[in-house]
Amino acid sequence: MELKAYPGNGRGQHKTVGVILSEHIYAGLIVGHALEGELLCSTQHESDPDQHVGDDGSSMVELPTDGVVEAICALVVRAAKGHERSLNAVGVAIPGLVRQGVVEEAPNLPQLKGARIQELLTNTLASHGITAPVRVVNDADAMAAGLASMHGKLDSFIRVWTIGTGIGYGMHPFTEGVWEGGHSVVSLDDKENYCGCGGRGHLEGIMGHRAMRLRFLDMEPEEVFEAANRRKNPDPRCLEFKHLWHKALAAATATSIHFRGAGRFFLTGYNIRFLDLNLLKDYLQQMIKMSPLQSYMLEVVDDDQTTRVIGAAVAAEQPTVHEVYSRRPVLSAA
Ligand SMILES: [Zn+2]
Repeated sequence: MELKAYPGNGRGQHKTVGVILSEHIYAGLIVGHALEGELLCSTQHESDPDQHVGDDGSSMVELPTDGVVEAICALVVRAAKGHERSLNAVGVAIPGLVRQGVVEEAPNLPQLKGARIQELLTNTLASHGITAPVRVVNDADAMAAGLASMHGKLDSFIRVWTIGTGIGYGMHPFTEGVWEGGHSVVSLDDKENYCGCGGRGHLEGIMGHRAMRLRFLDMEPEEVFEAANRRKNPDPRCLEFKHLWHKALAAATATSIHFRGAGRFFLTGYNIRFLDLNLLKDYLQQMIKMSPLQSYMLEVVDDDQTTRVIGAAVAAEQPTVHEVYSRRPVLSAA
């Protein structure tokens, strides 16, 4: 069975506002899966330059939920200017576990936990004259949708590891459920307890930026990898950690492959600079021995905000699994 020509598959000219919420908010008008005009950021306020939101890098965390909603809507209004009535959707990507419009968990923006974010955004945008449907998605899924769109892979199943402060695991096409791949258990060592969620043996507890700083209290992650990669006298503790870091990613990837099959994995995020792709491939070869599962592909790509904003828009255009099954005419036998 194949998904046929639902709106937003690259052939139509869908007009959507994509938004991503991280340390700052970024938004853009996406037409036909490309950015139209400039990428807007919450740090540059149009009418009141003194009223910056989140430009000290931390105030997004300090803002109450209503403030975050206001800040998102203000940027959507700017991005949608002149297109308010012709918008097909507004897609908002949030770092956290979002289900049916409710933020169930958001470790990096804890104030959002429990917020009925989709409803809040819909109501606030309506008061600004924007009535297009709002869709809230996980930011790792938005990254996956953005990369699928930019690499011409909207018709395939792709997975993305985002290696940054935390470890994001995104999938395209969007699938209802919980996919906290960053918290995959990759170690049975009792001492592996650096994950921000508190769980033991997690991938993020090894690879996450925050976790690395906790593990090496006297060294920054950059220094750890530099000491591990020294030609002369690499630091044994750092070298051992470099191997653990790659083994952990290989383990989580292998688990994903054993559950869902081989396929394409994109690797991105600001700490992708620490990745030694050959070392990762070596470990994967040791972990995946069933030949039908060995046709996986790994691709390192730049982490950029435009891809995420496009992804948030693309994800908002896609029908959810429920919608697909209730709209049978869009499905046809391949
Ligand atoms: Zn965890």
